[in-house]
Order: sequence, then structure tokens, then C-alpha cells
Amino acid sequence: MNNISGHYEILQAALEGRVKKDVPLARFTTYKVGGPAEYFFVAQTRQDLVTAVKTALVSGISCTVLGGGSNVLISDGGLPGLVIRNAARNISLKGIKGSQTPGRKVRHVFVEADAGVPMNQLVRFTIDQGLSGLEMHLGLPGTVGGAVYMNSKWTHPVGYVGDAVYQAEILQPSGDIEAVPRSYFRFAYDYSILQDKPATVVSVVFALEQQDKDALWQKANESIAYRRSSQPYGVATAGCVFRNIAESEAIIHQTPGRAVSAGFLADHAGCKGLRVGGAVVSDHHANFIINTGNATARDVVELIETVRSRVKSAFGVSLREEIVRMGKF
Ligand SMILES: Cc1cc2nc3c(=O)[nH]c(=O)nc-3n(C[C@H](O)[C@H](O)[C@H](O)COP(=O)(O)OP(=O)(O)OC[C@H]3O[C@@H](n4cnc5c(N)ncnc54)[C@H](O)[C@@H]3O)c2cc1C
Repeated sequence: MNNISGHYEILQAALEGRVKKDVPLARFTTYKVGGPAEYFFVAQTRQDLVTAVKTALVSGISCTVLGGGSNVLISDGGLPGLVIRNAARNISLKGIKGSQTPGRKVRHVFVEADAGVPMNQLVRFTIDQGLSGLEMHLGLPGTVGGAVYMNSKWTHPVGYVGDAVYQAEILQPSGDIEAVPRSYFRFAYDYSILQDKPATVVSVVFALEQQDKDALWQKANESIAYRRSSQPYGVATAGCVFRNIAESEAIIHQTPGRAVSAGFLADHAGCKGLRVGGAVVSDHHANFIINTGNATARDVVELIETVRSRVKSAFGVSLREEIVRMGKF
């Protein structure tokens, strides 16, 4: 990689000498593929995150924020500039809105989480506090920031992470930190505004409702059980590769039973078990690609294109990726 003279020194000065050069990124992703970051920094606190992003912004250094790396495909050539792994993990109870009369339920309890908090840590915390709104996401890999970026979801029962967002603190490319309400994100299926208007999520306030702890654990455990039965487990993957299609597309293309599920379409296009190098389409779930040990990002991309073209030939449907490609392909 070409180190632009001075950038490393600027970053080191701002970030207490904690920046490393040429750090392989594969181990910071669940695919376990991807080349090196030119500069790499682990943000341990929200202030670390803000300082790192702001320093990169004012110095003209390209900057990528990674959460859990569970929805990304990083190219074999790696990433230029600064890659920040967000490990800021503070969670706090912020307040209550509604009645506090004994015997009557409080309407909303607000919980604030740094964007680097793993979703599983947050879900366990909220259930332990007897708070409902995130319990169906137990087992979702990755961080709060990644889940807001993608409006991550669960289907049994249906719930989006964005449903429980009340407001968030975001760092704009201008360098300003803004507190924005839920409506700012324009949450939809697999979508938040961050995909079109990049900003860094620093922290998120969730509005949750009081509920019986045992009932919440039961729902959370049912989610986990369904996840274990329907998805490959303990493998190197980034979850679903493709987004489901819209119902209107299913009608236009007359998919079998008007199916909208990308996994169903890939399965019925005969994709299970397809392999390129070390990358293989899961036998368990046709929307999952697995790195069997020695896959490259190139292998994964070739396999993605093979599945896409098979589904196109079989059903006329053009699948769009859910995973985020980073770097040059
Ligand atoms: C086994 C497995 C199961 C999965 N199951 C599900 C599922 O049930 N439902 C579902 O929706 N997804 C699922 N996923 C996909 C993935 O876990 C989610 O999309 C997750 O929310 C990504 O979070 P992350 O922190 O890992 O994001 P990353 O992969 O690190 O990043 C994803 C994107 O978010 C951006 N981002 C991360 N943090 C920030 C921030 N602080 N500010 C701004 N942008 C940020 C990144 O720059 C990148 O563009 C699964 C993945 C795996 C491996």
C-alpha cells in the first residue's frame, strides 16, 4: 500500500500512538476474508470513535467504520486509509417516560448504547432489566451501529432493530455531532438513510417497554432455537448474501407461490452446494455463503455472481446484495 507521507503521524498524534499499519482485516470479519487496512485503530470508547473519525475527516484520510464485521465482504486488496473497529461498549439506563405509580406499568424506559455494543450484549441487558423491544434479536451477530445501518431484522416473530430506536447521536461528514430522532433514519426493510447519506453512529437511545423477564427470555430463546434450526451454525459466513425481493416483483416474475425469499429462489435455482475455491453455498440455507477455510474475497464474489445469474435465468429476478462490499473488486 502507498502510505501518504504524514497521515500515519497525524493519526498517531491524535490517537495516542494506538494506530497500527497494514493490519490484516480477515479476522475482524465473520467471513474471515479480506486484505489489510492501511491504518487500523480500535475505538474503545465513544470519544475514541469521534476523535478517530474527525481526525481522518479533517486530514483527508479515507475512513471506514467496522462493527462486528458480520455483514461485510472486504476485498483481498484490503482498504486504504483508516479502518476503525468500533469496540465502544457502554450501556446505560437513561430515564423513564410515563406513570411510576406502584402497580401501573411505566410506558417507556430509555436505554442508551454506544454504537460498538454487541447486539447480543444489549439484548441480554434489556431482558435482564425486564424491557421489551429487542428480545427477538438475541443471536444477531454484530454491533448496534451495524444493526442501525442495515435496520437488521428478525422474522420469527417479525421485528426490526429500527423499531425500537428513539434517537441517536451521529457524526456527520461535516464533523458536527447531531442528535437525530428515529424518523431521520427512514428505516425500511434492510434500509436506513446511512446507506445513502453516510454518517457515523456514535450512540443510540432505544425506547423499550416493561415486560415480564421470564416471558422475554422465552421469546428470546425461541428466536435462538429457530435461528439454530434454520441457519448454518458455527461457520464463517456473513449471513444472508441477498435481500428478499418486493412482493410486486414476485408477482411480476410469477415466482413459485409468489415467493419473495432470496434463499428460496436460490435453492430452487439449484444453488445449494455450488462452490468456487474455498467458498460454498450452504446446504442448509441457500442465501448463506460459507468460507470453508481458504476462501478469498474473489471466490466469494464469483460465487455471488453465479448464484445471481442462476436465479436470473430461472426466475427473471435480479437479486440485490444485502452484504456490504468494501474495497476494490
Ligand atoms: C450467522 C449470521 C447470522 C445473521 N443473521 C442476521 C439476521 O437474523 N438478521 C439480519 O438482519 N442480519 C443478520 N446477519 C447480518 C449481520 O449480522 C447484520 O447485518 C448486523 O447488524 C451487522 O452488524 P455489524 O456490526 O457486524 O456491521 P458490519 O458488518 O461491521 O458493518 C456493516 C455496515 O454497517 C456500517 N457500520 C457499522 N458500524 C457503524 C457505525 N457505528 N456507524 C455507521 N455505520 C456503521 C459499516 O461501515 C458497514 O457499511 C447475520 C450475519 C451472520 C454472520
